[in-house]
Amino acid sequence: MIPAGALASLLGDLRRALPTEPEERVPFAELSTYRVGGPVSVLSRVRKLADLIAVAKAVREHRPRVLVVGRGSNLLMTDTGFSGLVIKLEGEFEQVRLPAGPGDRATVRAGGGVALPKLARQTAAAGWRDLEFYVGIPGSVGGAIRMNAGGHGQETVEVLREAWVVDLLDEAPEPAARPAASLGLEYRTSRLRVTDVVTSAAFAVTADDRSDCQRRVDEIVRWRRENQPGGANAGSVFRNPLGDAAGRLIEAAGLKGLRVGGAVVSEKHANFIQGEPGATSRDVQRLIAEVQRRVLETAGVRLEPELHVVGDDVDGDGEQP
Ligand SMILES: Cc1cc2nc3c(=O)[nH]c(=O)nc-3n(C[C@H](O)[C@H](O)[C@H](O)COP(=O)(O)OP(=O)(O)OC[C@H]3O[C@@H](n4cnc5c(N)ncnc54)[C@H](O)[C@@H]3O)c2cc1C
Repeated sequence: MIPAGALASLLGDLRRALPTEPEERVPFAELSTYRVGGPVSVLSRVRKLADLIAVAKAVREHRPRVLVVGRGSNLLMTDTGFSGLVIKLEGEFEQVRLPAGPGDRATVRAGGGVALPKLARQTAAAGWRDLEFYVGIPGSVGGAIRMNAGGHGQETVEVLREAWVVDLLDEAPEPAARPAASLGLEYRTSRLRVTDVVTSAAFAVTADDRSDCQRRVDEIVRWRRENQPGGANAGSVFRNPLGDAAGRLIEAAGLKGLRVGGAVVSEKHANFIQGEPGATSRDVQRLIAEVQRRVLETAGVRLEPELHVVGDDVDGDGEQP
């Protein structure tokens, strides 16, 4: 918990330093695809680099718990909420710069807050291939790098050239270029810490026929609609165990449709847990635990969550710097 006095002086510093008023007690439901979770004490929407640097100075000074939120598509906030500082990149961090001209191998530069489907569509529409898989992942560039997001046979590690990262605790916080190989990108994980903020990234793309790029985008969108549910969820709840699929194990245990309160295992894809209107974060967490218990019982496999559970009452993301 951030003491009231510390919170007030953090807010005071942010108000003095930023053009955008920090928001207080923001329901996390508004910041995540799960649409559940308690309030966050302070939300700072950061629209340009100078503002992020000002936020970094306040973080160094006041040491609140920090959570960088992209599209909130891999986060489950507890009902207690988060008494710390949430940072969200907007404005200039949502810009995409396509390669200037023709060339076989080229670079797309995108801000850390860019929505992945937008990145995929803009790149494909301009006749550059290799980022089409992002059209089905409702995250941001920063979240994709932190999670090494992937699908349809591709992962971020294969397309990322480098990322620019601001360490909020650095004495002189500035974006530092970090080659992809230095980020420790592995299956749905990376070496980035909670105080590392991805401000932008460079992706390798290849020139291709626009209509071929568009066709691949359309195919992925169609596949997603046919195979994955819409509504409130955070995508795959569990990591796939080596050589198997979490969804297969959950389905084989007969758990499709299993319900706790307003949370239910999707009938369409067993590794998705849907939050129905009125669901609480606690419902989702209890269902996650119940699925883990039953799969362990029936298949002897301990499923590990892929989504990040955050909040005052859990460790992990949002640690005290
Ligand atoms: C319907 C659906 C389908 C999905 N399908 C896939 C899929 O096919 N493949 C896949 O890999 N994932 C999938 N996901 C999960 C999710 O979209 C990815 O993990 C995505 O990369 C998360 O990005 P985000 O911006 O939403 O991150 P958030 O959920 O906001 O945050 C996730 C983590 O990234 C960190 N983070 C966010 N932004 C930054 C930043 N700028 N700098 C540093 N750290 C940051 C956060 O602190 C947190 O630790 C799916 C989710 C949904 C809802």
